[in-house]
Amino acid sequence: MRRLLLPLPEMQAEFDAQVDRGIAHLLPVLGPVCGVFLVLFAAWDAWLDPAQVFLTLRIRVAMALLGALACAQGRLRWGASWRVAWLYATQAGAIIVCSALLPQGLLLALPGITGALFLLALVEPRPRRFALAALPPSLLLAVLAGLELPLPLFLDTVLLLAFSWPLALGVALANLHLRRRAFVAEQAVLHAVRHDSLSGALSRGYVTELAMHDVALAQRHGRPLAVAMLDIDHFKRVNDTYGHAAGDRALCALVAACRTRLRASDYIGRIGGEEFVCVMPEAGAADAVACAERIRNEVAKLCLPAEAGPLRFTVSLGVAVLCPEHAGWADLLRAADAAMYEAKRSGRNRTVLAHPAPVHPGPDGY
Ligand code: GH3
Ligand code: MG
Ligand code: MG
Repeated sequence: MRRLLLPLPEMQAEFDAQVDRGIAHLLPVLGPVCGVFLVLFAAWDAWLDPAQVFLTLRIRVAMALLGALACAQGRLRWGASWRVAWLYATQAGAIIVCSALLPQGLLLALPGITGALFLLALVEPRPRRFALAALPPSLLLAVLAGLELPLPLFLDTVLLLAFSWPLALGVALANLHLRRRAFVAEQAVLHAVRHDSLSGALSRGYVTELAMHDVALAQRHGRPLAVAMLDIDHFKRVNDTYGHAAGDRALCALVAACRTRLRASDYIGRIGGEEFVCVMPEAGAADAVACAERIRNEVAKLCLPAEAGPLRFTVSLGVAVLCPEHAGWADLLRAADAAMYEAKRSGRNRTVLAHPAPVHPGPDGY
């Protein structure tokens, strides 16, 4: 049965996957932009110390090319976090090493290097992954500052890093919080669009989308798939006798009863007022008819308390099994619908299996 809401671990996994997809989209743009800036900043090296510029330019170009590996989408099987860590390590590492070769370079580069922490916090907001990417360049900077700078300046550098880290981590956490809220809101909207608010069954649009996909898959791999079209018998009379609110409860009870009888991979959608469709991937005719009969019996056993007395109702079902003559979902549904009307005609509270041949649309397309 397709679940209504993703449970927490799946929500977390889906959120992580969404952040990773965002990073994967960003890296091919961010990587080259950072690479170009990294190389262009050789002009700054030339201004500080023309004698060193050829060495630093070579380092910058080499590191920019190494960093480009992070943008090689699909070629390397790295996860998004490793690619971010690699890009950040090569870019920040190049700036730190080049700065260390220039007089006062480390001090002058310090704002840029700490600023890069905040850029990283925007790209990778998950704290552990942020730390994984940011730690190696920060340690390199601290070590080189310890080797190159007099003690007071070294302490200033370490102090600036110590201030920047929690601030950048705060930006990462705020970014993460906002993204999580957007994700949860998106999930809520998706849930509302994909489900019928009364019965909890899938919405007509979503069940059609899923079923079209499953039918195409079954056709491609020559796998069985069946659908059962389900309609409450004399529902107008139910409403008239017990009231509309009791009718609503009957719709909810019907969906709950179907769920107890369907397999985990099956799903049910509401396609009209009191009409539902159950999609059963990997089910042949015998399985599907047996399942439809189980549903019919389960529904017939329901007894809902209502003001006008106990409410009992029945359903008629039409089952159709995918066959080569069906061009797609629309044909299959049409066959199930015709079988369901046959069940109504022949007395209601029964299951009818559609004739294997598809019911071709009439001249009006239906
Ligand atoms: P049949 O056995 O031939 O299917 O007869 P029926 O009375 O079930 O079919 P008909 O199409 O005449 O009536 C369907 C009724 O379903 C009419 C409508 O008021 C009711 N209905 C549709 N949607 C809802 C709903 O969301 N809640 C309730 N309570 N009733 C609904
Ligand atoms: Mg009906
Ligand atoms: Mg109907």
